[in-house]
Amino acid sequence: MRKHSVRGIFSAGLRLKCPSCGEGNLFSGMFKMCSECSRCHFKFEREMGYFVGAMYINYGATIIMAFAGFFALNYLTPIAFYLNAILWTVFCVLFPIFFFRYSRSLWLSFDYIVNPAEPPDPHPEGVSSVHQHTPSQSQERSNRDG
Ligand SMILES: [Zn+2]
Repeated sequence: MRKHSVRGIFSAGLRLKCPSCGEGNLFSGMFKMCSECSRCHFKFEREMGYFVGAMYINYGATIIMAFAGFFALNYLTPIAFYLNAILWTVFCVLFPIFFFRYSRSLWLSFDYIVNPAEPPDPHPEGVSSVHQHTPSQSQERSNRDG
């Protein structure tokens, strides 16, 4: 049940906003991602290891831009080979740091377009865990009582 168009979702992604409502911030700091949207409570990390896809986006974007930039400068300018190599090596170190937040945001946007439904919450609110009996609680109770 997607609320926005594909364009709107990617637009929110480029602004580092929630793909679901387009208003909540994805990040609370430079590299600190919120666990869920402050507006609509959409959960950002949808499963364990969810942002591995973002690493691929970041890596792919860096390599494509570095190779394209290297060959463009190599053929279009009289830049020395070693200077060109140093330039794009530095780029390969700095660009992924800059692009980190955008790669996560774009990955989240892409995944939200493909699979907008959130997986069911295994512990929905309202169902109290007090009534669930675990062996450790029973043991604790018997130790306390006896
Ligand atoms: Zn939201």
